[in-house]
Amino acid sequence: MNGDEVLLDRIGRVRARMASLDVDALLLSVGADLPYLTGYRAVPLERLSMRVLPAEGDATLLVPGLEAARVEERPSVFGLETWGETDDPIVRVDELLGGARRAAIGDQTWAQFVVALLRRRSSLELVRGSEVTGPIRMRKDAAEVEALAAAAAAADAVQQQLRDGTIPLEGRRESEVAADIARGLIDAGHDVVNFTIVASGPNAASPHHEAGDRVIRSGENVLFDIGGTREDYCSDITRCVHVGEPPEAFAELYDVLHAAQAAGVAAATAGTPAQDVDRACRRVIDDAGYGEYFIHRTGHGIGIDAHEDPYIVEGNELPLEVGHAFSVEPGIYVPGTWGARLEDIVVVTEDGPRALNQVDHGLAVI
Ligand code: ZN
Ligand code: ZN
Ligand code: ZN
Repeated sequence: MNGDEVLLDRIGRVRARMASLDVDALLLSVGADLPYLTGYRAVPLERLSMRVLPAEGDATLLVPGLEAARVEERPSVFGLETWGETDDPIVRVDELLGGARRAAIGDQTWAQFVVALLRRRSSLELVRGSEVTGPIRMRKDAAEVEALAAAAAAADAVQQQLRDGTIPLEGRRESEVAADIARGLIDAGHDVVNFTIVASGPNAASPHHEAGDRVIRSGENVLFDIGGTREDYCSDITRCVHVGEPPEAFAELYDVLHAAQAAGVAAATAGTPAQDVDRACRRVIDDAGYGEYFIHRTGHGIGIDAHEDPYIVEGNELPLEVGHAFSVEPGIYVPGTWGARLEDIVVVTEDGPRALNQVDHGLAVI
């Protein structure tokens, strides 16, 4: 995924933050922090994989022997150690911790390992790994922005196929269209498909609708919220396609949504509190009288995780910084009738907001 230099740069920033938080060691297992700092993704199984990164000195990546072949060795970044089937890897983690009194442990580490570690070393004080890594992972470096842009382009290609008829809609089940989308995401360069929301007609009023047996008919809006992972970074884009001319009331609703999403993107500048992006979207929708139908936050950060900091939500006063990457995805959902959402991934740059998704924002009519 990334060169050693990129990883070492990140590790340097992480260690500086460990020092400022008085954290003696960082323990990373499953979850995004490990690939972010190692280039390796742990297998989420009962056999422990753990990177032990002390504030000073050598870092070790401890993996089950049978998984060693999956590891790309990077001697300048970590020493690789394996444990055998009859070993207790917690004993080795305890040794590697040396004199550490306070450690940060990855948020998604399995409880069985946390419990075993605390049994063995009851004096160890643990804090959440994200307290160390969160603010650093939020600020995407150039390699990450490039990776997010490439993932966005791959998802854009599939949205384009839905708009130009390459993937047909009318008369097909949502689930059939979702299967085409999944194939398309892989063909366009994703390694993994994360979600393929296809919500037709009244189903689009449910923001996380799962594609089902409903057959798409003429005269209906279809909402597509799709995303995958490409070289460790996620895509996430929502567009709407109307089969046949939209009723005037729906076209009006969509115009409001389009204006709201554009206002949110325009507000995504460095120094702006995250909640102001939410407010910018919400104001347009409120003013048009649809406020009660916008029932979720405006967005979420995105990177190695599909949802991560910063969250674009009322109450988050965090000032946006250059390198922050997140979705701007207002929606209007009228229960039992119809719904629409419009979503781009946006990166804050020195020159203002940069939308990574390039697909036209208008309501496509096919
Ligand atoms: Zn989405
Ligand atoms: Zn999203
Ligand atoms: Zn637009």
